[in-house]
Amino acid sequence: MSDLQASAPGRVNLIGEHTDYNGGFVLPMPIPQRTTVGLRRRSDGVVSVTSRELVGAARAYVLGTEAHDGSWLDYIKGCTAALRGAGHRIAGCDLTIQTDVPLGSGLSSSAALEVAVLRALRAANELELDDVALALLGQRAENELVGVPSGAMDQLASSLGAPCEALFIDLRSLAIQRVPLPPRLDVMVIGSEIKHALATGSYRIRRAECDEAARLLGVAQLRELGPGELDRVAGLPAPLDRRARHVITENERVLATVDALHRGDHAALGRIFAASHASMRDDFEITVPEIDELVALAVAQPEVIAARMTGGGFGGSIVVLAQGGNGPATAARIAAAYAVRTGLRAPALLAGRSA
Ligand code: ADP
Ligand code: MG
Repeated sequence: MSDLQASAPGRVNLIGEHTDYNGGFVLPMPIPQRTTVGLRRRSDGVVSVTSRELVGAARAYVLGTEAHDGSWLDYIKGCTAALRGAGHRIAGCDLTIQTDVPLGSGLSSSAALEVAVLRALRAANELELDDVALALLGQRAENELVGVPSGAMDQLASSLGAPCEALFIDLRSLAIQRVPLPPRLDVMVIGSEIKHALATGSYRIRRAECDEAARLLGVAQLRELGPGELDRVAGLPAPLDRRARHVITENERVLATVDALHRGDHAALGRIFAASHASMRDDFEITVPEIDELVALAVAQPEVIAARMTGGGFGGSIVVLAQGGNGPATAARIAAAYAVRTGLRAPALLAGRSA
C-alpha cells in the first residue's frame, strides 16, 4: 500500500513541431491516458522504483548520488536531482509506476512520468511548487539526467492541460492560452509502429542546426524571425535555410490553427495541417516514409478534416482531426489500409472528443 498517489497525462501536439526549443509557439492537448505513481515514504534517503511497464527487479539509488546510467531510472533520478538543485528538501521513498500512455510513440510518456513523479514528491514533501515551476523541473530532469535537449512543451502540457482543451503556449514568455476544441470534433492519434527511440541523436542535430541558423542570422532564437525575413533565411547555407524556414513557417501555422479552431474552420485546419506535414517532411526532414503514408491514407478519408505527423519525428504517431463521432471507425479504416501497404499495425486512440 502506498501513502499517496499522483498521476499525469501524456499529450498530443496538435501543431508546432520543433518550435518549443526555438522559443516559439506550440499547441499541445493532454490525452486521457495517464501515468500513475504510488509513493511510500522511507527514512533512509533511498529511492526505490518499480515500473509495471518495464519488468525487472526494483531499481534503487541514494538521494544525492544521481548520475546518468542510460536506463529509464534516469527519468526518476532527474526529478529528484532537479528538485534538490532548486533547493527543495526531499526524503527517500518507494515509487510504484504504471501507465497506459504508450512508450516511445510521440505521446510523451516521458513527460507524463516526470510530472507524475514530481507531483508525488511535491505532495509527500509538502513542497511549495506551482504547476509551471514543476513542469520546468521535469524539463530539467530530461535535459540534464536523461540527456535529451528537449523544450518545455511536453511537461507544460502534462502539468497544466485539461481534457479537450488545447494549450497555446508561447515558449519565450511562457504565456498560456486555453483553446477549447470546436464542436463535434474527434482528435485521433494513430501510431506508425516505427519507434522513435533511436531518434535522440537526430533531435540533437536538428536543435544544433537551429542554433547555428539563429547565430548566422544574428538572433538569440529563431522565434525572433517572422515571415517577412524568409528572404534572408533563404541565403543561409543548406540545410540551415530549410531548417529555419520550417521553424518560422510552423510558428505562423500555430497562430493560424488557434484562429481556425476558434472559428471552427475545417477547411483551414486541413490546409494548415497539410502544410505543416509537408514542412516537416521537406524542410525539417523528420518524417519517415511510413508516417507520410499514414497521413496520405488519413486525408483520403471523407470524415478526416486534417492530419499531420505529431511529436519529434523519425517515426511515432500522426494526429487526425475527424468529424465528431467518426474518429475510431475512421482510424480503423486507415489502419486496415496501412496494414495492406506496409504490413504494420496502426494502433489508434481517441485523444479528445468535443460535444
Ligand atoms: P515518449 O515521451 O514520446 O513516449 P521518450 O523516448 O521521450 O518517448 O520516452 C520514453 C521513455 O521514457 C521510455 O523508453 C522509458 O525509458 C521512459 N518511460 C516512460 N514511461 C515510463 C514508465 N511508465 N515506466 C518506466 N519508464 C518509462
Ligand atoms: Mg518524451
